[in-house]
Amino acid sequence: MIRFDNVYKTYRTGTDALRGVSFHIDDGEFVFVIGKSGSGKSTIIKLMTREEKPTEGVVYIDHFPVSRMSRTLIPVLRRHIGMIYQDFRLIESKNVFENIAFAGEIVGMPRKELIQTVDIVMSVVGLRHKAAAMPLELSGGEQQRVAIARAMVNDPRLILADEPTGNLDPMTSESIMALLEEINRNGTTVVVCTHDSNLVDRMQKRVIEISEGQICRDCKAGGYSGETTDSCLPEVTV
Ligand code: ADP
Repeated sequence: MIRFDNVYKTYRTGTDALRGVSFHIDDGEFVFVIGKSGSGKSTIIKLMTREEKPTEGVVYIDHFPVSRMSRTLIPVLRRHIGMIYQDFRLIESKNVFENIAFAGEIVGMPRKELIQTVDIVMSVVGLRHKAAAMPLELSGGEQQRVAIARAMVNDPRLILADEPTGNLDPMTSESIMALLEEINRNGTTVVVCTHDSNLVDRMQKRVIEISEGQICRDCKAGGYSGETTDSCLPEVTV
């Protein structure tokens, strides 16, 4: 579903954010992208959503070279991707229902279908009873659940989460990860960028580790701590 083919990204400032990154993520996988702050994790996400273009190399989603697609197709790409951020990015003047519905409105979902869909995704994240609440009346964990519901409204095949638990306490973080895991079990591919080592260790998912813009580990069911296990692939080189 996702393929990075020898991707380099140098920002205008001259910073080499990615240096020859290649990996492949299949449909239905749950993958952590880990690494220190500044290692290039967000850049990987931005290349998938076409917020940025690679300096060299190609990014494919479903065999489609998104790094080369025309600007007019970018909204179509983004319709198929659900985004989740560390700071939730909810609209403070809209209630829970309206925040979630907004994602369907901007792609022109018919009203009746939208109302039903929002109702379903609110149930999935356990917030149906908070439909009329405003974001600032919610805890951080509840706000992130709203953001997850919003990401699900257009039934994306791919969810990208950039430090989704960065503002949450450990217990709430676990419940958010459990929710993402449940969404993944229902067939959605999930990619989570994080430096939350405890969570990654516990979840035993595939881990792609990046250091200074290069992949230093791609491990099928590994933890964050860096020990090599039998299921670890050897260091990935291009
Ligand atoms: P991470 O998500 O792992 O913290 P990033 O992908 O955000 O890493 O950043 C990788 C490197 O690229 C860092 O050195 C960062 O300062 C730099 N960088 C990120 N975005 C930009 C930008 N828009 N312009 C210039 N440099 C950037």
